[in-house]
Amino acid sequence: MSSTSKARLAVAGAASAALLLLGSAGVADARPGSDAQAVAAVADPAYATWIADVAAVTTPAAGYLEQRLGVPGGRNAVVLDIDNTSLETYYSGGITTPAVKPVLALATLAKAKGAAVFFVSDRTELLRWPTEGNLKAVGYAFDGLSLRPLFTFDPVQATKTKTRAAIDQAGYTIVANVGNNLTDLDGGHAERTFKLPDYNGVLP
Ligand SMILES: [Mg+2]
Repeated sequence: MSSTSKARLAVAGAASAALLLLGSAGVADARPGSDAQAVAAVADPAYATWIADVAAVTTPAAGYLEQRLGVPGGRNAVVLDIDNTSLETYYSGGITTPAVKPVLALATLAKAKGAAVFFVSDRTELLRWPTEGNLKAVGYAFDGLSLRPLFTFDPVQATKTKTRAAIDQAGYTIVANVGNNLTDLDGGHAERTFKLPDYNGVLP
């Protein structure tokens, strides 16, 4: 079973458990529009809903990049998380995971406007080769790929923040940092952050 399927099952299990708890308390209500259904909807949104929610963030982000990268000078960079930000990890299984199209468009715009694109992911360094291949295969052009170093036990946010600090120190101005979890975004080293949906941690 793929990890995506497992994640979906885990979500379904959690929603069922919530329904069971509601049931045992005597307040279960499975009618359309009930709280019980709302719990399930938030836990596992439909693909189209997710893409619409992503686009609601990337559309203003694109407007911002058009304007910000139109200012001459500087070595600008955009930082992107990978899973459920740049690749449809939760919604698509398979060896090559498709790009999240609105984010691919954002990355393409950033490159066209002269910015560097850096991926910063908590995937282990052991997955560098397939990750790099996947990103290229689905159309991303990028300048760097930073993965979780081996033998590091730092929390996600700490490793990601350190990486952005290193990008800063290499002489780049990170004009935008895009991710779907707060651990992608907290810690500074970006002029603007753009938070994509994670639906309360369902999408890692
Ligand atoms: Mg992610």
